[in-house]
Amino acid sequence: MFRPVFPDADGHFDYLPEGTLEFAEAHVFGAARFALDVWERYFGRRIEWHFAQDYRRLEIGILPGLNNAYAGYGFMEVGAHRFPDGSHAPYALNFDVVAHELGHLILYSTVGLPTAATQQGEYFGFQESGADTTALIAALHFESLLERLLAETRGNLYTYNELDRFAELSPHDQIRLASNDSKMSDFAAGWIDEHALSQPLTGAIFDVFVDIFQEILVEHGLVPRDIAELTRDVRSQPQNAQIIQVAFDAAFADRYEDFRAALVEARDAMGFMLAETWKRLSADYFTYLAVAETMIEIEGAMSGGRYRRALVESFAWREIGRVSAGPRLAPPGPLSHSHSARTLVPGIQDQLPKMSYRERVLFAGIAP
Ligand SMILES: [Zn+2]
Repeated sequence: MFRPVFPDADGHFDYLPEGTLEFAEAHVFGAARFALDVWERYFGRRIEWHFAQDYRRLEIGILPGLNNAYAGYGFMEVGAHRFPDGSHAPYALNFDVVAHELGHLILYSTVGLPTAATQQGEYFGFQESGADTTALIAALHFESLLERLLAETRGNLYTYNELDRFAELSPHDQIRLASNDSKMSDFAAGWIDEHALSQPLTGAIFDVFVDIFQEILVEHGLVPRDIAELTRDVRSQPQNAQIIQVAFDAAFADRYEDFRAALVEARDAMGFMLAETWKRLSADYFTYLAVAETMIEIEGAMSGGRYRRALVESFAWREIGRVSAGPRLAPPGPLSHSHSARTLVPGIQDQLPKMSYRERVLFAGIAP
């Protein structure tokens, strides 16, 4: 029997020694609460849980035997990454993982869940993409991350770096790159894993974010326009990478504060734009095209088309709006987040096909 962990007289938990279960409990709470605070500011209101009618609060369980993390109806379960030598890294101590799960909960509450009749594959890809974006933007609130990111890239965010090497100990046993080359045509014939399907959308959002950041750098006279233009084509013109990096190194030299301010401005522009977009999306008959169109509309209302080109070009490059995801080619696997019996709201659960015992065991994260 464990006693609950309480804060000290000043309301802090930092008296807890690292490595204890109490520390992990305080950390997982802090990570979830932090990510929620960040997004409530972007939403401009309190975000109610989608399960509020049945449970007053979210219960977060730390399960060392679970090699994954889930968020569902009233709960979040956070496991641990097991290494081949038998040691493990608790996800309770991994901000990206906890914030990703919190992201699912925010989307269940704000975008909602489709019914069996109205669900589309792209909704599941969107859930993973939105959860990653939630975590990424929340993580950009840590001064230490801003510092490391800028020190490593000198502001050239298209380079492979801390930010897109997202959640290295990912619960999905894969490193999902925000800065990826995935396009919708990769999924035109169908898809199996929603994490893979999420990549064109996450990639587009990441590209928009980088473009907004660069636009701000150019407007503030920190980076020449021609260099910012070159970065847009660096995928097809990789020989320019060196010239670009040299220019960024020179521009960044002693302008850390200015670059940091531009990064924070870009982060907040994305946060507010995404929150407004998510408010307007419907889970029924969901498409990435609706995300793109809504974001372009929101951007027009919020910043008068200042970033329209970044949005249009990034979505077009990913073939969003031109190619749709094909059918799901296999039933949801054990790593599926947003299609578990425990994730769905009770009303919808009844409309879905019953899962086999094996599927339920897999969803519960217990090795069959
Ligand atoms: Zn997920």
